[in-house]
Amino acid sequence: MNDLGTPVLDNHLHLDRENQGIEAVEDFHRLGGTHLLVVNKPSWHLGVEAETGEDFRDVFEETVSLVEEATEVLRGRAWPVLGVHPGLVTRLTDERGFEPHEARDLMQDGLSVAAEFVRDGRALALKSGRPHYDVSDAVWEASNDVLRHGLDLAADCDCALQLHTETTQDLSDVATWAAERDVPRERVVKHYATGRLVGGTPSVMSEKEYLDVAVEAGEPFLMETDFVDDADRPGAVLGPKTVPRRVQWLLEEGHADAVETAHVETPREVYGIDTLATLSS
Ligand SMILES: [Zn+2]
Repeated sequence: MNDLGTPVLDNHLHLDRENQGIEAVEDFHRLGGTHLLVVNKPSWHLGVEAETGEDFRDVFEETVSLVEEATEVLRGRAWPVLGVHPGLVTRLTDERGFEPHEARDLMQDGLSVAAEFVRDGRALALKSGRPHYDVSDAVWEASNDVLRHGLDLAADCDCALQLHTETTQDLSDVATWAAERDVPRERVVKHYATGRLVGGTPSVMSEKEYLDVAVEAGEPFLMETDFVDDADRPGAVLGPKTVPRRVQWLLEEGHADAVETAHVETPREVYGIDTLATLSS
């Protein structure tokens, strides 16, 4: 096992026991990874065609169960991040005959079930967002309603909200909605970020070019792979070994401060987690 002398957190990946599952966690651990935020897979990838919010519960339970197994492997630990994938709105409206407002209601109900897990201490944070591709105005509005419901729940649960959004470095509109609800701006986390972000905390895809931007910016950031653990897309988006490899590279490049920012300080500010205290030697 490779000890990098620091906690190493992948802020956003998925695990699927039908595919690599815990083997991906073992790879991460072997390269020096210590902590994981495991996001539930999109419900339909698990064969769940939700009709009520309650139908998401099994999807969330599966993630909680995988997180327990992952924690057994890690020197640190894993936590679940639960929510409803924003792409579901298109699946509902294009393929299942839902009106946008009906899709909105179902997705909000699913998020409310996810929030129960956070309130019970079984999950760390919530996940929501809006499509990253062009949609009709009605679907866009419905998606923003879902996202704002996510912020309502984050305020109520006193937790962070990871967002999947369009490609942008400016989430000022979301920051305004967060402020209206007294959700601290740093608790809005943009997953799949490219290095810099106005209006929240960037969870940077662990490509060297994006990490260079984040290091240069000198602001709080997190690192992720968005590993999808999908048999049809092996190694996508980035493989589970990527964050420890990039941490090693950052350390070799003399960026120990940035490593501390991304793996100790920002996780503490955003999620209230202590990656040092949860690390066994
Ligand atoms: Zn993801």
